[in-house]
Amino acid sequence: MPGFEIFGQEEREQVGDVLETGVLFRYGFDGARKDHWKAKTFETELAQRLGVSYAHLCASGTAALGTAMAACGVGAGDEVIVPPFTFVATVEAVLMAGAVPVFAEIDETLCLSPEAVEAALTPATKAVIPVHMCGSMARIDELKQLCDSKGLILLEDACQSVGATYQGDALGSFGKAGCFSFDPVKTITCGEGGAVITNDKDIYLAADAYADHGHDHIGTDRGAEDHLIIGTNYRISELNAAVGLAQLRKLDWILDTQRHNKAVIKEAITGVSGVAFRQLPDPAGDSATFLTFFMPDLDKARQAVAALSAAGVDGCFHWFDNNWHYIRKWNHFHSLKASARLAVEALPNIPDYNRIHLPQSDAIMQRAISMQIKLGWTPEQLEERARTTAKVLQDI
Ligand SMILES: *Cc1c(COP(=O)(O)O)cnc(C)c1O
Repeated sequence: MPGFEIFGQEEREQVGDVLETGVLFRYGFDGARKDHWKAKTFETELAQRLGVSYAHLCASGTAALGTAMAACGVGAGDEVIVPPFTFVATVEAVLMAGAVPVFAEIDETLCLSPEAVEAALTPATKAVIPVHMCGSMARIDELKQLCDSKGLILLEDACQSVGATYQGDALGSFGKAGCFSFDPVKTITCGEGGAVITNDKDIYLAADAYADHGHDHIGTDRGAEDHLIIGTNYRISELNAAVGLAQLRKLDWILDTQRHNKAVIKEAITGVSGVAFRQLPDPAGDSATFLTFFMPDLDKARQAVAALSAAGVDGCFHWFDNNWHYIRKWNHFHSLKASARLAVEALPNIPDYNRIHLPQSDAIMQRAISMQIKLGWTPEQLEERARTTAKVLQDI
């Protein structure tokens, strides 16, 4: 997820436009801004690039998730099905909405299993949030079918997978809304930022209002605007949007480079005894930010990560032992440790998160290792990495 690797003149020029006028706010100041509308332009180009009708930028991916839920009508007491393998932000956003995170198993796509989602449904289920982890996709067509048939809201967390597609359509475009993050470690970054995309005009208008105190953004006098709904401030600044705009224009090059680099390493370890690969519902649509493979068991996975690191192959993650991306180590969440009483604690039926039992996900995550794919590897470094990785895994 290496947008940070490629800052250059393009980013500096975009930021320079904003600094030159001093208009850091995305709305208004029409006279002073010399026609620089970085957030607006980023939104237009993002929607176009992803083939959807609308995009709305937010202050972060977490803010985008909160905005999307609010815009889709997901709130207090609603059950929202989420995967146990995600960045913890997905779960935070559900809690902050006053909704109840309900965990369902993942499958070998590393994303929500449609069968497990169906098994987790209750009369209180309102939405399903599949998370397209590590650059690739859930079985999104099946999840969409399930949500459509049950009248549930499908909301995609595509924060890690901008530019990835399933059967030609952008991840994030299948649900009622899709969310992206442009934080410092994502495929494209703007420092801090995120986006909600949708094809639904009402959802877009609600997101646009929610993320800016409910403002309807009609007319040119902010003080005279009406309020559509109660909202909050999840706005992005023009400085951040300027960086993101330059990065978005590099997305196709980023994807091509990642796909090439990933293919070289994957080829090198294909056929190594005991090594299997993550299931990709549409390999052509993988954004290739990570190469994820499975070792035969937990011990071998731990050995492999240690041996790869010792051999100088950096950037390999064993999520099962990681504090951030798998539920097993979210101790603060298990006990709902918060600085203040959470809305969900007022509900009669919240699950006991200390007792979440997800044996299928555990078994998959124990074996999974993800190698981050970088843009900056020289051909020699790439060859060396491919060779060393294959040798280390063979020896195990
Ligand atoms: C990064 C990320 C987020 C949150 O994005 P921020 O911009 O860091 O708030 C949410 N979900 C997933 C899956 C992520 O990887």
